[in-house]
Order: sequence, then structure tokens, then C-alpha cells
Amino acid sequence: MASHSILQTFYASRKWRGFRLGLIAERGNKCEECGRIIAKTSDIIGHHETELTPENVHDVAIALNPDKVSLTCWDCHNKEHQRFGYHSSARKQVYLVYGPPLAGHMDIVHQSMKRGDIIVDMDAIYTAVSGLPRYDKPDNLFQNVIGIHNALLDHVKTRHGKWLNAWVIGGYADKVRRERLANDLGAEMIYCEATQAECLERLSMDESLRHRQKEYEGYISKWFDEYRE
Ligand SMILES: [Zn+2]
Ligand SMILES: [Zn+2]
Repeated sequence: MASHSILQTFYASRKWRGFRLGLIAERGNKCEECGRIIAKTSDIIGHHETELTPENVHDVAIALNPDKVSLTCWDCHNKEHQRFGYHSSARKQVYLVYGPPLAGHMDIVHQSMKRGDIIVDMDAIYTAVSGLPRYDKPDNLFQNVIGIHNALLDHVKTRHGKWLNAWVIGGYADKVRRERLANDLGAEMIYCEATQAECLERLSMDESLRHRQKEYEGYISKWFDEYRE
């Protein structure tokens, strides 16, 4: 595994994600830097006072120590890292973040992305062009949404544009298709690890999905049926 993906793998691990959710449950959903209330848990960043590196990431006294991790909003997190001259690697990295619906792909991306990165996500494109809440996806817009999605994938593939790193988000349960896409994109794969029970729990807690429980239960079980490691 290339060294740059060791950190992403850590942020996708159940250990870290459970730890972060534990801090949020304990401290509440506000930024410890500016005090602002953060509505969506996926927008709360667990910030390490000692910047994580491939060398120290396995040291629990640094990586999983409540005294050394603060919860911040996205703005404060950006400022924090700019102040310390957060290095941006010159080469564009591409990450394929896959896993079951409701596994919290966005939590993982927010945790390690920076301003100027590009995100390719069907749900987000749907929201952008439909004006509807996330997850409310009218079938009749599918062709347009997939068209934009594919155009963006093409930009990522050809490294077109001035974005820093790219995050391609999706289910990608099928191993063959997933590996082909990762290959095409020159992407590192990051598995958004979650059990079916965890996804169902997140589903039941998601306000925006209150009226689509059954539909999403279906998507979740379909993903687990199709998934090949
Ligand atoms: Zn803040
Ligand atoms: Zn940080």
C-alpha cells in the first residue's frame, strides 16, 4: 500500500470512526474551536493535535487519544492546517471510496479532504440539479445526472482541471467493476467499512430518510448481497 493511503485507511477504519462518534456523543455537535453548532455529524471533523503521519498513525496515544483530538467545523479545520503549512502534494491523488449505502462515505472524505479537492458523487449531483433534499432522486433526471457524473469521472481520469485530489464516492459492490474503475482512474481504493446492522442503524437515525426507510433498507441489503471483497 502506498504511504499516502495509510492515513485514508485509518480514517476509514471502524476503530477511528467509532472513536470519533464516541467523542461527538460525549461532547456534543459543536466546534470546539469557534463554538458553532454543526448540524450534520458528517461535517464534524476529528482533528489531531499532532498531525497524523504514516509513522505515528498506529500509535494509539496519538491517533486514538481523546486528549489529543478535538472536534472542529470544516472552516476551523482548514485554518488549523493552513496555519501549520499543511503540505499539498504536487501530484493529484484519486481515491475511490466505496461501501454500502449509509456507511458514512462522506465522513471519511470530509476527514481528509482539503479545500480545492473535487468530489464525484451521484447523490450530490442529484441534489445540485434537482433542488431536492439529498436522497430524493427523481428517476426522470437519471440520464442528466449520470451524464454529469461520467463527464466528471472523465476529468478525473484525464487529470483535467486544477483540482488537488479527487474523491469518487459510491457503492461499487461488484469487485470486478470496482477494480476496473479504480484502474481506469488510477485511484487508491478506500473501503468504507460497516456492517449491515450499522448501516440500518444510521438509516433509522437519518432525518432526511424518514420517509424512505423501506426503499433504503432494500438498497442496503442489495449491496450486501452483491458485495464481493
Ligand atoms: Zn469552528
Ligand atoms: Zn486536522
